[in-house]
Amino acid sequence: MAVHSDASTTNSVDLGAAAALSCRECGHQVPLGPVFACEECFGPLEIAYDFSSYETEELRKQIEAGPSSIWRYAPLLPVPADVADKPNINPGWTQLVKADNLARELGVTGGLYVKDDSGNPTHSFKDRVVAQAIEAARAFGFTTLSCSSTGNLAGAVGAAAARAGFRSCVFIPHDLEQGKVVMAAVYGGELVGIEGNYDDVNRFCSELIGDPAGEGWGFVNVNLRPYYAEGSKTLAYEICEQLGWQLPDQLVVPIASGSQLTKIDKGLQELIKLGLVEDKPYKIFGAQAEGCSPVSVAFKAGHDVVRPQKPDTIAKSLAIGNPADGPYVLDIARRTGGAVEDVTDPQIVEAIKLLARTEGIFAETAGGVTVGVTKKLLENGVLDPSLTTVVLNTGDGLKTLDAVAGTGLTATIRPNLDSFREAGLAS
Ligand SMILES: *Cc1c(COP(=O)(O)O)cnc(C)c1O
Ligand SMILES: [Zn+2]
Repeated sequence: MAVHSDASTTNSVDLGAAAALSCRECGHQVPLGPVFACEECFGPLEIAYDFSSYETEELRKQIEAGPSSIWRYAPLLPVPADVADKPNINPGWTQLVKADNLARELGVTGGLYVKDDSGNPTHSFKDRVVAQAIEAARAFGFTTLSCSSTGNLAGAVGAAAARAGFRSCVFIPHDLEQGKVVMAAVYGGELVGIEGNYDDVNRFCSELIGDPAGEGWGFVNVNLRPYYAEGSKTLAYEICEQLGWQLPDQLVVPIASGSQLTKIDKGLQELIKLGLVEDKPYKIFGAQAEGCSPVSVAFKAGHDVVRPQKPDTIAKSLAIGNPADGPYVLDIARRTGGAVEDVTDPQIVEAIKLLARTEGIFAETAGGVTVGVTKKLLENGVLDPSLTTVVLNTGDGLKTLDAVAGTGLTATIRPNLDSFREAGLAS
């Protein structure tokens, strides 16, 4: 994990143990800055750290004594050491729910857990990644935060910008769920609908970045993407710490761009290298909706490249037809012995209701995707029911109420006992 260049000594910004940006394709390193593509090969850049001064048991103690938020892991993130004292929305440390009822229903005997990220401040996992991006934005002197979003990211950026005192101007496809639009607009930043799908929005943002119109803007998932992406590692850290500093055997993770899945793997690898968990095999399974399943299709066909799709699914938060991290997701699923699978929209709805009925957790469509894929992989014998399995719910069902429209009153009665009895509800 130590960085073999003098990049760390030339950095003028303080982002903790983050030492340099390193190309995921060729390993070329550059100093920390608001750049995201390698100047040698155009490969994506990611953060390289210098963890060489950490002593395992000291680090564990420091983490355990830290705040009940992602900042307990600040030594492992690209943030300054005093990050917890700054104005931010403090996401993370969400519940790891032991889902015994769901386990019984699905026939899982090895322990089934739901990591419920609907409990974050803006009710999705995106608060974790935005919290990193905003520290990078501060370090690089940006005053406006922006992003292209399938909905949840726009809300997370709006809230984080409001708390930290940044201007925000974010871009979404014009036809998102009402819940997501309101959640993004209410924080008072500028919210722009683009006539097109997410991939069009993303292309627009890439243009804006190179234009004077977007000068001085920090785009959390474009020019701040290497920092942003690291926030997903905290899911891996929390899951292991909440399991008593143990790796789970199997994880089921949703895929939009694929960033989250790749960084969960990176987080698990770091815990192993740091000695915070015992080294043992784990499998990572990726979950998509059939209506936007480019990675799943490539996995099943045995391909290394991901052919873009035009998304058409109710799982709009996962509707990225051209996922930037798709090839890396394929590598990880294959290296760990996992898989990538997809489910139909009706199966997503059924899974949302299954999770709600068994565990009292109301997931957004992305959670329906992971629970639905878990069910399917168990039925197909791909997931091992005798192993410890963690399923991610990355968002709140209140944001995607349309998906379960038609779920409602059991009966309407007159306010008297006869009417109640007639409805067949008496004990
Ligand atoms: C953004 C998002 C994801 C995953 O996104 P990646 O681009 O794959 O990192 C998962 N679930 C929800 C609800 C999201 O909003
Ligand atoms: Zn490179």
